[in-house]
Amino acid sequence: LNTMDDHTLKISDLCLKKYEELSKNGKPEVGKQWTALAGVVKQGTIIYLNCDIPDGGTYEVVAIGSGTTCLGESQMRPDGLILHDSHAEVIARRSFIRYLYHEIKSTWNSTSSTIFNKLIDGKCCLKPGISFHFYTSNTPCGDATIFPVTVNQTTPVNQTHPVNGTTTVNQTTPVNQTHPVNQTQPANQTTPVNQTTPVNQTHPVNQTHPVNQTHFVNQMKINQNKHKLPIPDTVAAKKLCPDIQLGANNSHYDVNRTGAKCLAGEPQDLHVIGSNFHCVGCLRTKPGRGEATASMSCSDKILRWNITGWQGGLVSTLVSTPVYMRSIVVGGMADIQALRRAFYGRMDLNSLDFLHHTRYHLHLPIIQRTDSKFKFYKSSLDRNELKPNGSALSWCKVPCNGLEVAAKSGFRLGTVKKHEGKPRSSTFISRWNLFRMFKEVMEVIPDCELKSDFQALEVKSYRNCKLLAKDYFNTWSDVKDKVLGNWATHSGELDLFT
Ligand SMILES: [Zn+2]
Repeated sequence: LNTMDDHTLKISDLCLKKYEELSKNGKPEVGKQWTALAGVVKQGTIIYLNCDIPDGGTYEVVAIGSGTTCLGESQMRPDGLILHDSHAEVIARRSFIRYLYHEIKSTWNSTSSTIFNKLIDGKCCLKPGISFHFYTSNTPCGDATIFPVTVNQTTPVNQTHPVNGTTTVNQTTPVNQTHPVNQTQPANQTTPVNQTTPVNQTHPVNQTHPVNQTHFVNQMKINQNKHKLPIPDTVAAKKLCPDIQLGANNSHYDVNRTGAKCLAGEPQDLHVIGSNFHCVGCLRTKPGRGEATASMSCSDKILRWNITGWQGGLVSTLVSTPVYMRSIVVGGMADIQALRRAFYGRMDLNSLDFLHHTRYHLHLPIIQRTDSKFKFYKSSLDRNELKPNGSALSWCKVPCNGLEVAAKSGFRLGTVKKHEGKPRSSTFISRWNLFRMFKEVMEVIPDCELKSDFQALEVKSYRNCKLLAKDYFNTWSDVKDKVLGNWATHSGELDLFT
């Protein structure tokens, strides 16, 4: 193992192990249900004369989230008590924010924090050598799930393609997996957002990638069924889509499919067989059965967090710099190129110039795949009818009640109907409870501008407190104005709770 593989394995295995350790309550039924897992791992690096060692130091899981559900727009509540979006990535990030609040509180209490130092202005700063890594067991929904696949029904199974001197064929290998990952080079930097460049345009799949034929044919069948289109063979595909590019052995190119819909104002998917089925780089809402969700896809949220930080608006007032992820490790079927595009590459860097005047920037985390498999992983190839597990499990490293489970309703699992809507039905990571933690932190931080601004607020509503995070919300609104204009924003009514 080289050091990067070693690092990637550590991140994924620590999260998988932590999940195993958690009690069964809310976990899927083996063989019947699936879920997705995400987590945040803290790395403490030993600092030698300002030169940090990437694979050095200690690794520790600080937050875990699992879940697959997202409520429709009509189910959203203005009281902040429920979780609207329970995809694993979102639950893990909210659990991480809970962890950060706890650590910030510890910094100012008599106890001390393992990750923060005090600054004189009432803010905390991360201790030297502390960094965070994000793990997810599946490709985050939305843009990252759109990547080239090759479909070829005439080529024998497991036929090997000569690829850069290697002939490895791996059943679960997505198209781009073997690409050398250049960590310093922003992917697709020249592709502006909203441009409907076909995935394969600059990237002839067959020439450079090992692809297992059966794998993608199966996937096509499944995806085709989903979209009620005929199962394509190369001839039929050519008829339906005369411009389709045919590769060696009559293989043709396609893209992995998603049910996540482009937002209004974005380029819209063409839904034609071939590499133009989806457009790439677009903002999308979360896929889901039933009522449409008003929540942005996880790919889009991660893109946002790579700019505004993963700590959120209120925590941004308590820390000196945004908290970014140093790396993102993705399990299951994943494509490095698509992940990079979705997480940062689709941003036009020139249009983000204004960020130079803020403490934010477009952060480019190292993006890695892991082969470690999550026990409840479901790939789009799975033929057995696994049902999504409706519960969302969250855990973070705090002294008590670190673990809890949310039901599909967004309330704490086990809440009886008559208690729904009372604070006790609300999970620790709900907006209401995280806001409560913010107010608790206000009690313990020393006198500073933030504290007096907070005390001066006549109504200490969530919305009014968000005004304390001026730089955060102004920056985010500038980003939306300049590059992410179609981002779905909920009405301010949802922020009026106290
Ligand atoms: Zn998602």
